[in-house]
Amino acid sequence: MAAPQNQTWEVLTQEIVACRRCPRLVNWREEVARVRRRAYRDQEYWGKAVPGFGDPEARIHIVGLAPGAHGANRTGRVFTGDGSGAFLFRALHRAGFANQPYSVHRDDGLAIKDVFISAVCRCVPPNNRPDPDEIEACLPFLREEITLLKAQGIVVLGKIAFDHTLRLYRQMGYDLPKFIFGHGMVHSLGPGLPWLIASYHPSLQNTQTGKLTEAMFDEVWEKARTLLR
Ligand code: SF4
Repeated sequence: MAAPQNQTWEVLTQEIVACRRCPRLVNWREEVARVRRRAYRDQEYWGKAVPGFGDPEARIHIVGLAPGAHGANRTGRVFTGDGSGAFLFRALHRAGFANQPYSVHRDDGLAIKDVFISAVCRCVPPNNRPDPDEIEACLPFLREEITLLKAQGIVVLGKIAFDHTLRLYRQMGYDLPKFIFGHGMVHSLGPGLPWLIASYHPSLQNTQTGKLTEAMFDEVWEKARTLLR
């Protein structure tokens, strides 16, 4: 993995948006943007890689999986314009991290404080499943965010984000023990490193089946608040 090269958020954002490293994902994000969902037929889709979003001074780094086809791949902002984002931002608003309980488009007035949101994969994958080599290609962006943010804690959304975030720390040279994924579990990565809370991903598959309820999600953000120094 290449060492971080970027010095600023602006440069990092430009690099992510311009990235075409993964041919399968570049084709897919553009295909989704071209075909469009009927309800959004009149909208111009973003159709590019989606950079992180949030407070550059954040103490909490939220790491998701990848943009939604008709959410972030349409609107150009993470967790914006789909059911996952609606569930996430209602919770962040209840927890006092967001000024409004919705995230529908890039100019909707949303402001979030003390959290920064990104993902292990910045381009929408077919069937919401990036290949391991695509995540590997994308992890340097997460590494650069970690370096710029120096957050106190990480909240990972879903097991894939959990596994690859920990893998990234190991690639960065940290000797981490084996951690088990479980919703609401808190892990200490080690001295000088952030704490990490694992959460189920707020996908419709989880929230519509009751695997992840609003109460379960609220507990995650309450724990995060409590852990902040
Ligand atoms: S997934 Fe990441 S590395 Fe691959 S093309 Fe998108 S931004 Fe680039």
